[in-house]
Amino acid sequence: MPNEFYIVATPIGNLADITLRAIETLKNVDCIACEDTRVTKILAQKYGITAKLFDCHKFNEKERSEKILNLLAQGKKIALVSDAGTPLISDPGSVLIETLLKNNVKITAIPGACAVSTFLSQLPRNSEDFAFIGFIPRNQKQQIEILNKFKHTNCIFYESPNRLISTLENLSINFGADLKIAVARELTKVFEEVKINSVQSIIEYYQKNHLKGEIAVMVFEHNNVQNDDEIKEKIKLLKEEHYSAKDISIIISKLYGINKNKVYKLALN
Ligand code: SAM
Repeated sequence: MPNEFYIVATPIGNLADITLRAIETLKNVDCIACEDTRVTKILAQKYGITAKLFDCHKFNEKERSEKILNLLAQGKKIALVSDAGTPLISDPGSVLIETLLKNNVKITAIPGACAVSTFLSQLPRNSEDFAFIGFIPRNQKQQIEILNKFKHTNCIFYESPNRLISTLENLSINFGADLKIAVARELTKVFEEVKINSVQSIIEYYQKNHLKGEIAVMVFEHNNVQNDDEIKEKIKLLKEEHYSAKDISIIISKLYGINKNKVYKLALN
């Protein structure tokens, strides 16, 4: 089995964001498996890439894996690209790579643009660790479950512009209006914008400014309180100092980014 299969990162918006090695590789292969051939054609035309393009996306990946194995057996060199950025990062390719590995194909990844790393590289953080959850689920209960799981870590997700405001409103209700977040829009493109602020301020900003383009969101690590018992413990301490339920709810929600009404109800009990 020849060993010439490449996973190649392509730009996430600005067509100049591609490495020399990526261009050289795409020029040298016989075929490029693309998420969408129309998108890759634009890149190919810009850089004089003449390899044959065929589609390989989440709906035909399994079948294409067989085709790619056959082409490799014929001695063809093949590359995989997605529409933007690094393949397999919230993009198809896992099924194909699993098949190739089972068939002992050597895989070479050519690194390059990726929205997560482009975003992270410009965000000040207190710690190195972060969680990346890909596209956040649409279901609001699931959104909170997953963000609760990573509340002690800076957590990045992808979201569509149509759903961004309702997702942020959900975060504000559940984690507090002061929750610190960052939103990246159109990274590397002409209208690139990164906002770092409280979730409430960012909701207000995007309610005033028409929201379109590609979006990534980071929720900064935000909750030092582990569970209701810990909140209750803190409420008890404040009650001993004769704070009212209302004041306690304001203090704890401000300090720990927990929903004010939730603390208020716990304080009343
Ligand atoms: N493979 C890509 C990567 O390496 O980042 C991600 C592909 S995923 C299907 C597409 C999503 O990534 C977009 O909907 C958006 O959430 C995010 N994204 C891609 N390009 C972006 C950009 N230029 N600015 C902000 N987010 C971007």
